Formats: sequence, structure tokens, C-alpha cells
Amino acid sequence: MDYRKQFFVHPGTKLSLAGIDPAQTGDQASGEAALPEIQRHVARMAELQALLYADGKQSLLVVLQALDAAGKDGVIRHLFSGMNPQGTSVAGFKQPSADEAAHDFLWRAHQRTPARGEVVVFNRSHYEDVLVVRVHNLVPQAVWSQRYALINDFEKLLVQNGTRVLKFFLHISPEEQLARFKQRLDDPARNWKISETDYSERTLWSDYVAAYEEALRKTSSQNAPWYVIPANHKWFRNLAISQIIADSMEDMNLKVPPPRVDLDAIARKYHAAAAEQKKAGGKASARPAVKE
Ligand code: AMP
Ligand code: MG
Repeated sequence: MDYRKQFFVHPGTKLSLAGIDPAQTGDQASGEAALPEIQRHVARMAELQALLYADGKQSLLVVLQALDAAGKDGVIRHLFSGMNPQGTSVAGFKQPSADEAAHDFLWRAHQRTPARGEVVVFNRSHYEDVLVVRVHNLVPQAVWSQRYALINDFEKLLVQNGTRVLKFFLHISPEEQLARFKQRLDDPARNWKISETDYSERTLWSDYVAAYEEALRKTSSQNAPWYVIPANHKWFRNLAISQIIADSMEDMNLKVPPPRVDLDAIARKYHAAAAEQKKAGGKASARPAVKE
């Protein structure tokens, strides 16, 4: 199953989240059966990140958006833990600070976009400015309604500068969300995650759905695609996202960069003894694929 095809939000077409079953698991029978496949994708992601870093020409921005308890933290923990912390980071976006609020809404996001060679995960993002901001009327409609075009221009700038942009909406049902809140209530180790606003926001569910539908529809493109990921089952969410990221990174045509120096000259200069040995017929050791 090619999840990039299956879960891509086609630009411009009507998107109805109600028509996408958050509990679906494709052709996969169980989480246990899918585990080796998830591990394979996670390993590919890690290898490709090492290449991206070595290559130093392109970058990857992964945007995670969802309602509370849909699994953004879980995706980060499970799928990005294999990547080298040198070259990978997570940027979380909460209520803007006074300084952030005093700037345009893209200012804080732009400061955290990946440099060449880097992978950055946005845990929430600039999309909050057409989601929570819209649902709670934090700015007038005349302001937020202009932002889709601004976001598209912003992401176009990133893409043209060599950043691959992948955006995921983790789609869960209200029942599954409530069940996860209850688990947090019952587990002392996770009590800290609970806030009363999590519950009060549930009364605005349909407003959030409408805001997400419009945002996804207006800002999905081949260059900066949105994927709606059925996320009631954590393992399926992990499977679909890891496959999409690994496949997309493979398309980036990442290569081990050529050496920047004359290797023979270096060898002669600093490894004279080894060079002698080489001349005498000894074999030079093979260089590993990606190492400094
Ligand atoms: P959490 O991700 O649960 O820690 O909560 C972060 C909160 O910050 C969420 O309720 C977001 O909706 C909120 N938030 C993020 N960005 C913005 C924004 N631009 N304006 C207002 N609230 C925001
Ligand atoms: Mg929250």
C-alpha cells in the first residue's frame, strides 16, 4: 500500500474528514504484524537523515498537527528516535509569547525552519494561526482568511530553497480522544498532561474540523503535501507516517558527497607508511558509506 497516494489531500478538491475513517488500518491485520515494517521504515529514515546531513544541500521539515491526544508526541518519540540528534530537532509551538505576538505570525516559524542538512519536526506550527486562532476568534476573519495564501507563499519559499515539506494531520475520533484522556487520568505518570481546556475544547470539535478541512484543502500541494493519517490505532499511524517520510526522503536523491580534498595527496602527506604499504601491494581499507 502506497500511503502517500492514499492519504494525500488533493489540492482544491472538497475534503470531508467525516468521510475518512480514523480507525482504518488499510490491509494490515494487526500492530504486531506491522511492527517489522515500521522498524524498517524507521531505519530507512535514520539512514537517509545521515545522508541528508552529509550531503548538506537539502533539508526536511515535518509538520505535525492534530487535536489533543491524537499522538503528535508519540510520533516524535517512536519515529524520530533513530535519527542523529546532531542535525535533527523538534520545534514546539504553543501560545505565542509577547515577543512572538508582536511580530507577524510566520516570524517564529521561520526562525525554526531547518538549515541545509537538517531535519526539523514542527510539533504544532504556523497552522495554529488558521486553526485555534480561527476557532477562538483571536483575530478577525479578515485577518485569518488571508493567511492561507501567506502560508502557501512561505512554504513555496522553503521548497525553492531546498526544503522538503511534509505535513501530517493526525485524525482521531472524539471517542478515541476521550478514551485517551481517561487513560491519562488513570496513569499517574501521565497526569501532568491533563488540562481542563483539553475537555472544554471538545465542545468545539466541529469548529476545529471545519477549520482543519479548509486549511488542509487550501494549503496542500504536490510540493508541500498534507496527509490525513487515520490515527485511532497508534501502530497504524506510525506505519503510515514512517512509510511516507522514508519514501519522500528517498525521492530527494541524497548522495554521499564527493571528497573535498585530494585523498591521495592527504594519504601521501599524513599516512606515508600506509602509502608505502599500498605501493607494496597491501590493500587500502574500504571507506564506510557515511562517516566523517
Ligand atoms: P499543547 O500542544 O497541548 O501543549 O498546547 C499548546 C497550546 O498552544 C494549544 O492549545 C495550541 O492551540 C496553542 N497555540 C499554539 N499556537 C498558537 C497560536 N498561534 N495562537 C494561540 N494559541 C496557540
Ligand atoms: Mg493540549
